[in-house]
Amino acid sequence: MTQAAADFTRRRQDGGEANPIHLQEVRIALAGNPNCGKTTAFNEYTGTHQHVGNYPGVTVDKKEGFISLDGVNVRMVDLPGTYSLTAYSQEEIVTRAVLAPARIEEKPLAVIDVVDTSALERNLFLTVQIREMGLPVVLACNMMDEARKAGIHVDVKKLSEQLGIPVVPTVARSGEGLKEALREAIAVGRIGLEPLNISYGPDLDPVLTRMERLITDKGLLTDRYPARWVALKILENDTVVLEEVGRLMPDVSAALLAEREEVARHVQDTLRTSPEAVIADYRYGYIRSVLRTGAVRRESTRDRLAFTDKLDKVLTNTILGPIIMLGVLYAMFQLTFVLGAYPQGWVEEGFGWLGDSVSALLPNGFVKSLIVSGIIDGLGGVMSFVPLIVIMFTLVALLEDFGYMARMAYMLDRVFRAFGLHGASVMPFIIAGGIAGGCAIPGVMATRTLRSPKEKLATLLTLPYMACGAKLPVFLLLVGVFFPENPARTMFLLTLAGWAAALLMARILRSTIIRGESTPFVMELPPYRTPTLRSVLTHCWERTWMYLKKAGTVLVAVSILIWASMTFPTLDPQQAAPLEAQIAALQEKVDALPEEDAARAPLEDELAAAEARLSEEALRYSFAGRLGMAIEPFTRPVGFDWRTDVALLGGIAAKEAIVSTLGTAYSLGEQDPEEATSLAERLEQDPNWNKAAALSLMLFVLLYSPCFVALVVIRQEAGSWGWVAFSMIFNTAFAYAVSAAAYRIGMAVFA
Ligand code: GDP
Ligand code: MG
Repeated sequence: MTQAAADFTRRRQDGGEANPIHLQEVRIALAGNPNCGKTTAFNEYTGTHQHVGNYPGVTVDKKEGFISLDGVNVRMVDLPGTYSLTAYSQEEIVTRAVLAPARIEEKPLAVIDVVDTSALERNLFLTVQIREMGLPVVLACNMMDEARKAGIHVDVKKLSEQLGIPVVPTVARSGEGLKEALREAIAVGRIGLEPLNISYGPDLDPVLTRMERLITDKGLLTDRYPARWVALKILENDTVVLEEVGRLMPDVSAALLAEREEVARHVQDTLRTSPEAVIADYRYGYIRSVLRTGAVRRESTRDRLAFTDKLDKVLTNTILGPIIMLGVLYAMFQLTFVLGAYPQGWVEEGFGWLGDSVSALLPNGFVKSLIVSGIIDGLGGVMSFVPLIVIMFTLVALLEDFGYMARMAYMLDRVFRAFGLHGASVMPFIIAGGIAGGCAIPGVMATRTLRSPKEKLATLLTLPYMACGAKLPVFLLLVGVFFPENPARTMFLLTLAGWAAALLMARILRSTIIRGESTPFVMELPPYRTPTLRSVLTHCWERTWMYLKKAGTVLVAVSILIWASMTFPTLDPQQAAPLEAQIAALQEKVDALPEEDAARAPLEDELAAAEARLSEEALRYSFAGRLGMAIEPFTRPVGFDWRTDVALLGGIAAKEAIVSTLGTAYSLGEQDPEEATSLAERLEQDPNWNKAAALSLMLFVLLYSPCFVALVVIRQEAGSWGWVAFSMIFNTAFAYAVSAAAYRIGMAVFA
């Protein structure tokens, strides 16, 4: 048993009431390597929702939450995952700042060190360093369920004696052992622990002792750290400690550095290595000696991850892998649209009913028109896609938590690399509508997993080409009217066209304006895990909420804007007078006839036609109409008339607006399902419309400027308005070129 362990055991036996807590609130920090389950434990403890992910390094900020146990109020801090406590990375600096704060009253009472029990050797490296800092610590042997399955046995009592700290087996996911770990942390925090003191061998030990003595004598940082720890950090060349020491006591610092120089030279001469490396070696040596005492036994090392390996043989097989992947994508596509059609219908009906009810309540006029056409229709357009998005994101979250998304990224990495992208670009593309029906907004957010700024930018700029959920109604309408022979195939070809455009454009961008090295695929393939309900729900909710929040708020404003630009300026009364008089006269005639009169129907038709003419005149006169007509000459070569131009302008605000704006532009008033059919009829009869124009419009909608909200989030992620302007202007020009070509070819082929 080590000295510290003996100390610990003795103190526990004494009853451990040495320094009882008089504080109202205590701090407990959760530390550990990335992916060991800290955030999961944190959520279990505090009940708050945090992102729980399989991607390494999701936790970057420190998170706090509260819990009270046995009458003690605990402030819990979730630290970023780190492997070490040397100030090299941002995570390490954050973690150290919390564990050894400048203000003593912020020092945590104790640390719960969460470790992956299946990888104890690597995980304990951090534990040793926390112990060397002298912090009271509890070892939470987490993922005990997986360890048990893999045949790993932990002798808790023995391990605890060896390390000199309490050890508690936990399963953060189910909450098993967490309360006990916290109870132990409070207890060990009350009695305190001596810092761990391990030997660093014949070269370093004497130097360490000398340095420790000097540090103790001068009281250098001893209020915050154990003296030996400061000495170790200096030997390890820790920049933060060196800077602090140099600032506080320049002369002592010089003496300490001289010691380091000397021993470094010696180690270099004799062992051909550095003090840092010697220190790491001895730490691992200590850990191995602890584990070798029989505290941890493995039934068979090959059992570990055997399931994962077996599954990977099939799922990432060179031939089977891609086939299965296509199958999975196809199944997701099917599930989303087949299942989603029901709730989507309900939501549409609900908003239709709401619109009708409000219509009936309000008098005719601008207010009614604003509320019904501007707000309710706009919101309805967004909300009707929510069910599809929820289903899509649930499926994505399931695959992500199961570990399959990482495999997809791994398999597609080689393909993507050829186009200057990265395996991790797969998720953003899929979320943005890579299998039709996603949304670019969460897609753009998902690019955060990309480490290289250049690959991230290339992904950001090309993912708006995907067939997102808001473009689908346009496709469905036009395919239904002009390509009714094989609608599914046409939709599939459009989805492919989106991919082709994205990959091609990525290649071009990466060899021109965003040239640069590609980063290797280093994402560790996590073992397969059964997804938990909570994690899937959290993931899905986070992404859906992003869509709702951004789309919901901006979209209402946007649809009011579209409404206003299509309403004002109003026809001047003289122009409107003849039509209005005609309508009034017809209305009178209709009203005069009894309900069942046969003459009524033709009159009603005439009335509707007159009303339609009036609204078309009004639209022509409005701001949007005038703008559309001004643009018309430029869009002749791609086959669009001014009405389509108005709809496309609305589409920049939000793609959902295209079909409804077309409806209004074709004098059909508000859109409901029946009238959508009549929009289709109108298009079919209109001499301006044909297969070539429909194809051209579909490609244009697929490729032109991203919608307003997507542009806003692209700004956030890309960091400059320059890329936003690029996205708008370049994509629209590209779409124009493609559509013009398609229109020419279409006119020749379909004529
Ligand atoms: P962090 O990086 O340390 O914050 O780790 P997370 O809390 O994000 O967990 C990483 C993954 O491990 C998630 O998929 C969790 O659901 C999973 N996980 C966490 N704790 C356990 C556990 O005790 N058992 C199992 N089987 N999985 C766990
Ligand atoms: Mg985390």
